[in-house]
Amino acid sequence: MQEMKDAVARILNSANKIKNTGDAITAVLNKLIFCPFCDEYYADSSALSEHIISKHASHLTSTAVTVDTHEVCEGAETIYICPHCHFAVDESCTSPTSTMTSHIDSHSISLVPNTKMAFQISNDSKLIDTYINGSVKAEIYLCSVCSSILSSKEALLRHLYLSHSDSNGKNVSADTIKIIEDCVEELPERNAVKRKYGSKYSF
Ligand SMILES: [Zn+2]
Ligand SMILES: [Zn+2]
Ligand SMILES: [Zn+2]
Repeated sequence: MQEMKDAVARILNSANKIKNTGDAITAVLNKLIFCPFCDEYYADSSALSEHIISKHASHLTSTAVTVDTHEVCEGAETIYICPHCHFAVDESCTSPTSTMTSHIDSHSISLVPNTKMAFQISNDSKLIDTYINGSVKAEIYLCSVCSSILSSKEALLRHLYLSHSDSNGKNVSADTIKIIEDCVEELPERNAVKRKYGSKYSF
């Protein structure tokens, strides 16, 4: 509890243009880091990573894949990957999306129609290097929120934090809102303004 109060106070002290309690709540919610898999939230990314490792390990499993062929060249920054055989092309391909779509269609014979998936996209430089170096075996980590592919558990944890930890659609407990409101009461700036303008200042 005290830990959360300290974190909220830190966020409020570094935030600009807080004119009322509503602004304060928005500023804090924008900075809090929410678990993509449940309603827990944290003030720093390492706490989120620890939480995911201990509570959602099933979202961090890797798959060993064998890459037979690919068209990924030196300098590639984005690759498009077939989820079935892990064939990949890079962004220099004339039309990576249509190449991948027709490639995936070529699997149809062996795939039940509804198991057909869209291709996946990765910007993970380590995974791209694995392709460029021609390694035939790779461990891949699939993000269960958006299907991005990453090359390590650390990269996946970082991706979950960077891409899927905002407050959109998350439940924030009444206790947290209360903590924010309490911290607003104690904001030094607000108290200074209050001293200057007295009770006319509504916030
Ligand atoms: Zn969680
Ligand atoms: Zn394929
Ligand atoms: Zn994702």
